[in-house]
Amino acid sequence: MFISYEIFKNRAEALRDRMAAACVRAGRDPSSVELLAVTKTHPADAVDYAGRYGLRAVGENRVQEAVEKQPLCAAKLKWELIGHLQSNKAKLAAAHFDRVQSVDSEKLLNHLDTAAAALGKVLPVLLQINAGRDPAKFGAEIEDAPRLLEHGLGKKNLIIDGLMTIAPLSDDPAVAVRTFEALRVLRDDLATRFGAPLRELSMGMSGDLEAAILSGSTQVRVGSALYGPR
Ligand SMILES: *Cc1c(COP(=O)(O)O)cnc(C)c1O
Repeated sequence: MFISYEIFKNRAEALRDRMAAACVRAGRDPSSVELLAVTKTHPADAVDYAGRYGLRAVGENRVQEAVEKQPLCAAKLKWELIGHLQSNKAKLAAAHFDRVQSVDSEKLLNHLDTAAAALGKVLPVLLQINAGRDPAKFGAEIEDAPRLLEHGLGKKNLIIDGLMTIAPLSDDPAVAVRTFEALRVLRDDLATRFGAPLRELSMGMSGDLEAAILSGSTQVRVGSALYGPR
């Protein structure tokens, strides 16, 4: 049995409180940070709860899972791809997602641009950066980010909304803080250098969203704190 809407709503309220408290500490407006509900491994109800609660979007980490789930969902909201994407799935991803957050190579930019052009759409994307230098994580290296951004800015059918990162798993909270700070600094550098706003900083999850908000996150991606363990 999947959780009830009441349980979801209580958890969402508690999350809103955590996010608001972090915003107060950071001197930020609570409306400047979005809650993205991560529905991977959960049924279509998870998506519908998010829609009923008024969230704008859900995050999925596998293309195929989202393709199968979408027809089962009544809620009309946006779908964001947050998991690793292989170039051979770019066409399917461009067709089924409103934004792709996991773009970490020029090859993937090429494939997504071609796919978006064929669909007659402009696809928003984020560049995923391995800001924590975690060998276990996907994402472009910090040093490669300028070249990747320059390549992306040249694509007519893509729009680069900003950057995304996942902090390395660690018992030391300082690791997440360093990772999020590194992404913010990189964004500020790139924005100045390229004159691109790069407004979105997608960082922070169930366990580390406060640190992310203190570092300037504009979107936290939350799964387990909303839906329970996977
Ligand atoms: C699963 C996932 C999340 C959500 O993680 P939780 O710890 O369950 O909140 C966030 N971002 C990405 C990229 C994920 O794959």
